[in-house]
Amino acid sequence: MSRRRQIYEGKAKILYEGPEPGTIIQYFKDDATAFNAQKKGTINGKGVINNRISEYVFTRLSHIGIPTHFIKRLNMREQLVRQVEIVPIEVVVRNVAAGSISKRLGIAEGEPLPHTLIEYYFKNDELGDPLIAEEHIACFGWASNEEMQDISAMAIRINDFMCGMFAAIGIRLVDFKLEFGRLWDGDYSRIILADEISPDGCRLWDMITGEKLDKDRFRRDLGGEEEAYQEVARRLGLLDTDNGPSEVLDLNAHRKLRGK
Ligand code: UDP
Repeated sequence: MSRRRQIYEGKAKILYEGPEPGTIIQYFKDDATAFNAQKKGTINGKGVINNRISEYVFTRLSHIGIPTHFIKRLNMREQLVRQVEIVPIEVVVRNVAAGSISKRLGIAEGEPLPHTLIEYYFKNDELGDPLIAEEHIACFGWASNEEMQDISAMAIRINDFMCGMFAAIGIRLVDFKLEFGRLWDGDYSRIILADEISPDGCRLWDMITGEKLDKDRFRRDLGGEEEAYQEVARRLGLLDTDNGPSEVLDLNAHRKLRGK
């Protein structure tokens, strides 16, 4: 890999300066963290799979008219994206109670919610990404009311699309996290979908067995996280040899190296 200027290193990705102004390279790591980085580990091959899953989901979303930062996948672990100014809000969409909402409000995990909920969290590691109300967003100027209208409308469309996409492969989309950014054009900006969509930021349960196919396997020490991520990719048709053998072969090579 040529030496490019590193812009930022996050928990699961590294961002490098892209080849042209206004572009960025997202490098997907195998590192996994949970509970605000108190738990750290690696999930072998995760970066390769998340790069591929996120490419797939962002591409499908662009086909239904959701503007995204995704430009193209460059290789196994990297994708070229548009540079945006990240809105400092994590947008969580929930269809079924799980995780923090179950803990906070005492709702049993797996209880379907009466209707889809959108929650906002302030992106701030030092504060542990606290839950906030829309009023806080307006009050502190993290996003304008017009931007929040775009964000909430897109979040609902993304949820509707993704619920169907996953249902078609026997997966229940319990909840997921989105991040949005401002794409600047002179003095004007518009909101587009940024970051990634992968089993790192989604709760995905097998519709029949209820088996967890996401990062909760790592968070809750359930084991089998590599296989779970691969299973999601496989069901999406991303590990088929017909679709390009490189991922399958390389993942297997990786596993053989580790004697698995
Ligand atoms: N999530 C995420 N990053 C975060 C917090 C949450 O990707 O920093 C995702 C998480 O994977 C889940 C959804 O957002 O799919 C809702 O997470 P929740 O609020 O239940 O938090 P958790 O139980 O992970 O603490």
